[in-house]
Amino acid sequence: MFFVRSAEVIPCPSCLGHLGVVGSRRRGYVQGSGHSVKLIIRRLRCKDCKKIHHELPNILVPYKRHEAASIEQAVKEVNPAVAADESTLYRWRSWFKVWAVYATRCLSALAHRYGFPVEESSIPTQSPLQPFGQWVGQADKWLGQIVRPIANANLWVQTRSAFLSAVVPSTFMLALP
Ligand SMILES: [Zn+2]
Repeated sequence: MFFVRSAEVIPCPSCLGHLGVVGSRRRGYVQGSGHSVKLIIRRLRCKDCKKIHHELPNILVPYKRHEAASIEQAVKEVNPAVAADESTLYRWRSWFKVWAVYATRCLSALAHRYGFPVEESSIPTQSPLQPFGQWVGQADKWLGQIVRPIANANLWVQTRSAFLSAVVPSTFMLALP
């Protein structure tokens, strides 16, 4: 069992208000090897808008049981080294196709709002990463780079709210102020 605690202070994804810890809950995830890991994540309530948010480590994608690295591989490679059956791989690839369209729009809006520089894409047009070429490199962990600013700006389309903290050291081209 791992406890997720971040050192950084992330504002409320809904209103940028101050978040206070009000409890915790269990959250499991599946590694690429198929091994399940149990986490205790924090439940935070915004002192301003009163909304509840859950803090996820940035190795996860909100509402997905498998770690981001596995989904990344499935999207990028024909035969990913991930312990997941064909139907799961198919589901991730279908999800990504639809989500990628939405995500690129979110990133454009965030770049505009916060004045991030936009670079020319260096990713080949056949790659599933091509729409994100101006935001991420071809190195691993690109999915987290895309997911984190979208979730933290409350643009993740789901019923419950989550945000991601940088528990695993990594750099993001996009980070909200
Ligand atoms: Zn709030």
